[in-house]
Amino acid sequence: MARIVQKYGGTSVGDVERIKKVAERIKASRDEGNELVVVVSARAGVTNELIARAKALCAEPSDRELDQLLAIGEQETIALTAMALHGVGVDAVSYTGAQAGIFTDAVHTKAKIKTINAQPLEKDLKAGRVVIVAGFQGINDDGQITTLGRGGSDLTAIALAAAVKADKCEIYTDVDGVYTADPRVVKNARKLNEISYDEMLELASSGSKVMQSRSVEFAKKYGVVFEVRSSFNHNPGTTVKEEVEYMEKVVVRGVAVDKDQAKVIVSNILDKPGSAAKVFRALADANVVVDMIVQNVGRHGIANLTFTVPQTDTGKAQKALVPVLDEVGGGQVAIHEHIAKLSVVGVGMKTHSGVAASLFQALANANINIELISTSEIKISVVIDQDRAEEAARVAHAAFSLDQA
Ligand code: ASP
Ligand code: MG
Repeated sequence: MARIVQKYGGTSVGDVERIKKVAERIKASRDEGNELVVVVSARAGVTNELIARAKALCAEPSDRELDQLLAIGEQETIALTAMALHGVGVDAVSYTGAQAGIFTDAVHTKAKIKTINAQPLEKDLKAGRVVIVAGFQGINDDGQITTLGRGGSDLTAIALAAAVKADKCEIYTDVDGVYTADPRVVKNARKLNEISYDEMLELASSGSKVMQSRSVEFAKKYGVVFEVRSSFNHNPGTTVKEEVEYMEKVVVRGVAVDKDQAKVIVSNILDKPGSAAKVFRALADANVVVDMIVQNVGRHGIANLTFTVPQTDTGKAQKALVPVLDEVGGGQVAIHEHIAKLSVVGVGMKTHSGVAASLFQALANANINIELISTSEIKISVVIDQDRAEEAARVAHAAFSLDQA
């Protein structure tokens, strides 16, 4: 007998038929004698639909009212899932976030979990009931409903797994796990049996969204080992955990492509102390997250800065930079959106050399030009022309033989 936290995402509980299937899965695990806490998302599309309705009525809906509204998506699925379990003779009870004792700070629409009081839930588990908890929501000290940011049901599951000291945490979704690359782009991409938290986080920040990043950070912090797997079949998934020594034998674990970045070039600014500080302070104050940064060698006292920002933030970036240009001796801002960021990720890079050389050579052989480069301990990213992105992913995947175990 084990204590298991399972989380089912929006497509897994997308309609009545899917909820029935999920109930069968839960029943099978319950019949094996396991104690189960089940976290569910809203049905796929519901949260987006609710946001659209809010915006149709008010250009800038209040964050408190948004939370009141968005929480109903998950409240529907917890009750339906409990009913589906009753329908197949399994004792189950549904909990909202507040009823499950999930206390958060007061920041509506992106609240952080502060504490979880799992006592009521423990009582039901002891009584042999399956406990179904609404993902994505909590309650603040004033008794207000809060939500945890988009994709926040993952965080609910990971945090509950830590709080109830679960033996296992299973994140059910509509893909079989984490792949060496997007299988829609790279045909021979392979499902990974294991990946470290850091690799998973780097892949997520590089464009492969399997889970909410915050939930992976939380899992790393509290040492929650979890498995990402599909609710549409019985294939084993990908286990995500702290890196262990043998993981470093694999130099590159995966390849990701991000087409949602834009390249910003600030040219002809004064090459003197403080120029870069002013530019990036202005961006930081405007809450623009800057990723790759390159400064060329100054000539005749003039320098250029090139960096990437999320495409959704180019307007904000431009607006923030205009007043700064005067302070750095004039200059111009140019924005290129037709780019892609290609990243290769692997904890093995810490102890292996030559990864960058191999990647650059492979791109060179395919005649793909590299516009920007950045590296971290476990990642190398390059900016390339967006039209070559898929090809570059295939080239990099092949260069590191990622199709082979
Ligand atoms: N329903 C929420 C969303 O769509 C939370 C989740 O699905 O994890 O963002
Ligand atoms: Mg979701």
